[in-house]
Amino acid sequence: MERLQKILAQAGVASRRKCEELILSGVVEVNGEPVTTLGVKADPAVDIITVKGRPIKGESKLYLMLHKPKGVITSASDPQGRKVVKDYLPGIKERVYPVGRLDYDTEGLLLLTNDGEFANLLTHPSHHVPKTYWATVKGIPHGSALERLQQGILLEDGMTAPAEVEYHDVNTEKNQATITITIYEGRNRQVRRMFDAINHPVVLLRRVRFGELGLHGLARGKFRHLTPREVQDLR
Ligand code: URA
Repeated sequence: MERLQKILAQAGVASRRKCEELILSGVVEVNGEPVTTLGVKADPAVDIITVKGRPIKGESKLYLMLHKPKGVITSASDPQGRKVVKDYLPGIKERVYPVGRLDYDTEGLLLLTNDGEFANLLTHPSHHVPKTYWATVKGIPHGSALERLQQGILLEDGMTAPAEVEYHDVNTEKNQATITITIYEGRNRQVRRMFDAINHPVVLLRRVRFGELGLHGLARGKFRHLTPREVQDLR
């Protein structure tokens, strides 16, 4: 027996907090009986659990990796009609959610899943998954500027945690450099804001690693399923 909000979150309905709100709003039923208080337990193997009349049981867990192109929004739908990540998941009928976000203009490795518990675990601030980016920036930053990024730099929402930073490529003709940066946090537009803080704004941002996962030849705009081993290693 598990708490209902946990079962719902594990089935990918929404985050655990959102599932609590769903329960309180009266749209969740167990064996045909509405449950409107928190703390009720159920057994997903035997009980029929529905949200707004739709059974949640039996949905298999999906773990996907997408090479998100730039110019694509990391949400389920966009009122302005821009491209969304779902447009790049042909054949996937399940509702999957991004694990964290990539900006509209950022490309690279994005995880998607219908396992809410897994998504919450990986995006929780206490879970320091390393995320590696190639940031192509305006101008060629001095080593001392990169050191500031490495040690932690003051942004409007506080100091950043130590990061790993190194030159990847320097293009004197274009007056641009590509820097490899690994961060262990996931604040909003963090990498762009870090480079803004050293006066080298990002021209192109690409996430190349998430935890142990890399893109490894996955073409831009393509996705693949993670192996059970890869899912296990991320937990
Ligand atoms: N940092 C950013 O600035 N943008 C992203 O999309 C991801 C990390």
